[in-house]
Amino acid sequence: MERVGADEWYKVERVGDDVTYICEPHILEFYRCNIWHVRGRDQDMLVDSGMGVVSLREHVPLVTERALEAVASHTHFDHIGCHHEFDKRTVHRCECDLLAHPTRKNTLADPYATDEIFTCLPPEPYVSSTYAVKGAPATRVVDDGDVIDLGDRHFEVIHTPGHSPGGIALWEKASGILFSGDILYDGPLIEDTYHSDMGDYIASMKRLVDLPVRIVHGGHFPSFAGERYRQLIQDWLTTHDA
Ligand SMILES: [Zn+2]
Ligand SMILES: [Zn+2]
Repeated sequence: MERVGADEWYKVERVGDDVTYICEPHILEFYRCNIWHVRGRDQDMLVDSGMGVVSLREHVPLVTERALEAVASHTHFDHIGCHHEFDKRTVHRCECDLLAHPTRKNTLADPYATDEIFTCLPPEPYVSSTYAVKGAPATRVVDDGDVIDLGDRHFEVIHTPGHSPGGIALWEKASGILFSGDILYDGPLIEDTYHSDMGDYIASMKRLVDLPVRIVHGGHFPSFAGERYRQLIQDWLTTHDA
């Protein structure tokens, strides 16, 4: 398979509300984590950081323009690969050990990170069979109800276990924006990893459904509006909460 250069690895697209989508276009959609950048008055926020196969700091100028808090929606390999590049690293209490000590197994790089997830391989020296995420001990551990404060914008941490034990969603009440991570996106959800829990998943969905969401930026697949959000959750609950 062909490799692409580091300068072609990321694609950056503004989506409105001072939110920017940072994409890894050479990864197949199902495996491609959405990286979200939010501009704030006092600091910026990054929600997830991709596979880490190319430096975000060196190739996406946006992430070094201001002070930045790099939040992990959870710690699967596709979401935390570049966290080690940032000084401020935030994760939920239930996955702080994972962020500090990631392995191929506990981040799901094994079995998911193979050459088959790419349309073009990352630049040298990337090799799928030995790929692993670097440890990035959290500088801030959050719990449900904590707030990521950007000065003029405030994102409430909603603990959403189920896909993984320390999954979080980030909710900006003033704008109706929800960053949902992998608990909910508009594509096939993953409910059966080694640390998934169906009881937790159902409880998280029941909690989310009542939020007056306007737009959802998920961990994978395109963003969607509040109406679709409520429909997706209700459909999911119909088949899973029997
Ligand atoms: Zn994911
Ligand atoms: Zn995940």
